Amino acid sequence: MPVEPEPGGVGQGSTGAGGPPGEHATAERGAEPSEVGGRGRRAEGARQPRMPEGLWIICPGCREIIYRKEVERNHRVCPKCSHHFRIGARERIRLLVDEGSFLPHDEGIVPEDPLHFKDSRRYADRVRDAGRKSGCTEAVLCGEAAVGGRALQVCAFEFDFMGGSMGGVVGERIARSAERALARRTPLVIVSCSGGARMQEGLFSLMQMAKTAAALARLGKAGLPYLSILADPTTGGVSASFAMLGDVILAEPRALIGFAGPRVIEQTIGGKLPEGFQRSEFLLAHGLIDLVVERGKLRETVAKLLAFFAG
Ligand SMILES: [Zn+2]
Repeated sequence: MPVEPEPGGVGQGSTGAGGPPGEHATAERGAEPSEVGGRGRRAEGARQPRMPEGLWIICPGCREIIYRKEVERNHRVCPKCSHHFRIGARERIRLLVDEGSFLPHDEGIVPEDPLHFKDSRRYADRVRDAGRKSGCTEAVLCGEAAVGGRALQVCAFEFDFMGGSMGGVVGERIARSAERALARRTPLVIVSCSGGARMQEGLFSLMQMAKTAAALARLGKAGLPYLSILADPTTGGVSASFAMLGDVILAEPRALIGFAGPRVIEQTIGGKLPEGFQRSEFLLAHGLIDLVVERGKLRETVAKLLAFFAG
């Protein structure tokens, strides 16, 4: 079973409850910046002077060769075609909230291995490697912050940590964020970027769907707003729970959003899927989400929405 997420792969560390593991991997492999110049060169010897291969990248959206720094300056959005490159949790929060306002919470709650799960590798080893690769302690980073001067609780997913998959700790951190929002009477904003539930935790990961939904329901009863922002990709058990429960659901342009992957759906219905199926714009046209917002305008859009809810 493919369980190790690869760079640019989608959700291989996870699976939607409706599809076989790795189903989401059919979509957008190579969505990350691909470097111009051979990767193999690096393997020839680390002592060689670094080639300027990283200066230029090929945009998977328009196939143009673009200057990496130019993309980074533009919130990692292609200046030519507006392709939104995936970003990590820390960068996401930096772009979204007021400067210097973020204070992380629950970083001490770290993954356990309730099933002592092992396939080709031990789950515990995968978690350790994911931590090294991403620099995060889990697939979601949560804390308090402010947007437009308004206090809120914020959660952002880290796709480089096992495909942003939701295990027990991810669910717990999100539920705690909702509870903090409730206790402090502040809004909650969650930015999803996830392949879905974490298969290595089996039923424990699926239970997080109900747990997070229940926490959000308490927030809703108290009349506190919850904004859900969907980044590429948002699939499986995450899309089937809190990601689609926002009072307002926003998405970045062209983000893949769905439950099972297109291959499973085509096999089930025995037909071809329409152009643009499971992309933000398609979901907007069919009434599943409320807004498609470019990354550079997310902060001001969130600020406006929060001001609206505050009356
Ligand atoms: Zn482009």
